[in-house]
Amino acid sequence: MKKLLINCLLLSVTGILHAQDYDGFYQSQVNDQKKVEAEFLKTVDFNSFKQHLKTLTKEPHVAGSPANERVKDYMMETMQKAGWDVEVYPYDVYMSKDPGESVVELVLPIRKPLNQQEYILEEDPFSADPNLLKGWNAYSGSGDVTAEVVYANYGTKADFELLKEMGIDIEGKIVLARYGGNFRGYKAKFAQEYGAAGLLIFTDPKDSGFTRGLVYPEGLFYNESAIQRGSLLTEDFTGDPLTPFDPALPLDGDTDVKRLDPEETNLHKIPVTPIPYGSAREILEHMKGKPVPPSWQGGLPYTYRLEGGENLKVRVKVDQPRDFVRVHNVVGTLKGSERPDEWIILGCHYDAWGHGATDPNSGTAMLLSLSETLGQMENKPKRSILIGHWDAEEHGVIGSTEWVEQMKEELEAKAVAYINLDAAVSGRNFGAASSPTLKKLIIESSKEITFPDSAKTVFEIWAGDKEEPSIGNLGGGSDHIAFYMHVGVPSLNGGTGGPTLYHTNYDTFHFYEKFVDPTFKMGAAVEQLMGLISLRLANAEVIPYDVARYGKDLKLHFENAENQVKGYKSDFAGFTKTQMALEKLLDLGQKYEAALKSKMESGDLSPEVKDDLNTKLLGLEKSFIDPKGMYFGSWYRSLYASTDPFSGYASWMLPGIMYEIEQKETERLAEWDERYSAAISDLNAKIEELNNIL
Ligand SMILES: [Zn+2]
Repeated sequence: MKKLLINCLLLSVTGILHAQDYDGFYQSQVNDQKKVEAEFLKTVDFNSFKQHLKTLTKEPHVAGSPANERVKDYMMETMQKAGWDVEVYPYDVYMSKDPGESVVELVLPIRKPLNQQEYILEEDPFSADPNLLKGWNAYSGSGDVTAEVVYANYGTKADFELLKEMGIDIEGKIVLARYGGNFRGYKAKFAQEYGAAGLLIFTDPKDSGFTRGLVYPEGLFYNESAIQRGSLLTEDFTGDPLTPFDPALPLDGDTDVKRLDPEETNLHKIPVTPIPYGSAREILEHMKGKPVPPSWQGGLPYTYRLEGGENLKVRVKVDQPRDFVRVHNVVGTLKGSERPDEWIILGCHYDAWGHGATDPNSGTAMLLSLSETLGQMENKPKRSILIGHWDAEEHGVIGSTEWVEQMKEELEAKAVAYINLDAAVSGRNFGAASSPTLKKLIIESSKEITFPDSAKTVFEIWAGDKEEPSIGNLGGGSDHIAFYMHVGVPSLNGGTGGPTLYHTNYDTFHFYEKFVDPTFKMGAAVEQLMGLISLRLANAEVIPYDVARYGKDLKLHFENAENQVKGYKSDFAGFTKTQMALEKLLDLGQKYEAALKSKMESGDLSPEVKDDLNTKLLGLEKSFIDPKGMYFGSWYRSLYASTDPFSGYASWMLPGIMYEIEQKETERLAEWDERYSAAISDLNAKIEELNNIL
């Protein structure tokens, strides 16, 4: 479910980057590390990505299916063979395994069932797999309704408000909305709140389809039968809907886990199902009401109308039973030779809506190849490297969240970084988003990797004509959420992007080979970059966080927030306490950088001092973890970043304040000034201690 990440606010901080920065390494050790890196880059096998991808994606494997268990077994075998310690973590999650039964049909003016599944294409043999499922939205309500139709554009909060303003009554109607503009779960939430009886969601050809270019299999846009699947879960936490804060451990296990009654949850009640634009067209062509505002017009050859009128009736039936479904995470460990209790964690989910060639298993294939490369190396990493394959991400970022909740204390004490690689090799364009402390490391590492079929480095191609590549700030949308926003593990999300048949049954090996990367070399390039980042994190004497970046990034985020508050409260004096703490943070960050640099040049840290430094560095990000959490949901505990709780789409920096801004609230601004200044002062105290040790 990687698509949401694209929407992140890009901020650039100009900093002078030196050519060859090996932060955290003694000057005298840089050459040793260079040898390790050269060995690593050379060991990467450029053929293995393609082989793994082919095997992983040979059959559709939705979470909870026997085929997904076969994928799990293959990953376990591969990693065990490569010398990793592999453990399986089972959970019983309240969800649906499949679409159950669903029907979409015209009832008036004519009776006609509408298509709900992709066509079989001669060019793509995978499209004929009998185990492919029809289009569905997990966590739909169940029901059977026949009603008139209202078109709601993208089904955002603003769209529903405009419908109301225009006097369109949604009560008891079936809403037809297009994908885009927000997370699909919010379309269902708003439709239900406005009294709709059911919801149909389609991808409009203007957003992906013939209006944009050639369609699959001739081109890379949605054809008239392509359907975006996806979860509708919109709880104010991620993971299993019955066990917020706790792991959904097996019902037959030794540990009793407190589970909510499904009646206590906020799961949607109305039937919701996605349809292709070929089917939406049959509804739209019979609509008779007033025309839509110009920006609501899509790409089908009709004037889109707000209402269908009483002579158009559509039936939507969804019977999607939920039950406890057993899901499994697979976590492999390559134990560190010197600091085994400090963990660098890489991860990607492995469940898919169909075959999952780009989303997610391009990431899985790359990680399996990485496990083989690292397993073969003579030089073992000094810190432990863990690779997690998460289950049931597509249903609501479930597997990774349950694992984080289960491992919370250990992660707080041991996790150096979490690197999320969902769909990580989906094209030829590099991109990344991360927490501030890891940004420099990604940029530096990208200078060492050759871009396939070119004489340039990844850094050069990625940066283009800019001084350095833009690294986004991390929002929601995938398996880093619990690591970063619930526990406070510095996180990174990265890889390559490109053409996408997002969440359709056409995300197959055939599509990959034809449109995503015919050379299959990008898999190895991403492996080299992510491996190098991991090895620098694993082998540095002192964890190579860019501590000074906290102050620089936060300053920009607070400037932005203050300007937005002034937009509705012109006499706002600013977050004055926080600003004072920030000034100090900027100063302390610079001092840390200088002190560390001089120690690294002289190379004289005693083992005790080194231990102390590393332990304290692991604690820095925790300053932003506030036990009270956010007003939109206390599970979200990071003051630094969260998913936007109104659309589920954008990444929110300073979410405590953003929530007030979004509602033009003024009452809690002073409280947030207190809470943010307290967090930053706590961080300052930790950095001051680091500086004293150095
Ligand atoms: Zn995904």
